Amino acid sequence: METKIKLTELVEFLSCGICNGYLIDATAITECLHTFCKGCIVKYLKGKNTCPTCDLLISQSCALNFIRQDRTKQDLVYKLVPGLKEREALEESKFYADLGLPVPERNSPDKEICETSECKTEDTLPKRQEPIVHEVQKQEEHIALCLEYDRPKDPKRKLKPLKRKYLKCSSYATVGHIKKFISGKLNLESCKEVDVLCNDEILGKDHTLKFLSATRWKLKTKPLLLHYRPRLDLYQ
Ligand SMILES: [Zn+2]
Ligand SMILES: [Zn+2]
Repeated sequence: METKIKLTELVEFLSCGICNGYLIDATAITECLHTFCKGCIVKYLKGKNTCPTCDLLISQSCALNFIRQDRTKQDLVYKLVPGLKEREALEESKFYADLGLPVPERNSPDKEICETSECKTEDTLPKRQEPIVHEVQKQEEHIALCLEYDRPKDPKRKLKPLKRKYLKCSSYATVGHIKKFISGKLNLESCKEVDVLCNDEILGKDHTLKFLSATRWKLKTKPLLLHYRPRLDLYQ
């Protein structure tokens, strides 16, 4: 006997609990097997370390190490939702064409997701063409950071402090990436609205964390301490 199931009955199973759209690059949390779009869950886990669906504490430190792509589920989504795969491929090639970059190969199993994958705009892309923006090799070094808010005296220029000030980042991430991260978290219009400082020195956007840690930070056992504050405008 043939059983017919309507697509609407499967929608919940095929969609992402974060964006409510069909799963794109289905990625499961290994601890509870809840599945989300890769983009959605990576972004989400930058600020939290619990599952958005069941609230399970994934890891005390780096929840991003506990997600894996679920290709079987993704294939199922593509099979059941006609046209989705084609639409997605088109969107993706448009996205990379706008940045002038080649479309990266999908689903390479030896790659890991990097915490800096949020930083995709042109002015923060690192100059070299190594794949550090989206994916990094497993052996890549990570640096622990503390982003401390420097409250300005002028109350009109206040920013909100970050909810979580500790994070781990690829050592190849730059000050530009950090600014982008902060402005994203605080919903600022532009990453140019923040200055990032180390030991009271305003940092240029091209310095990498690796460089800062080697040249500016002597307390190697502690996270690299950076301060951020609203940009001081010399012309005001
Ligand atoms: Zn999603
Ligand atoms: Zn879960």
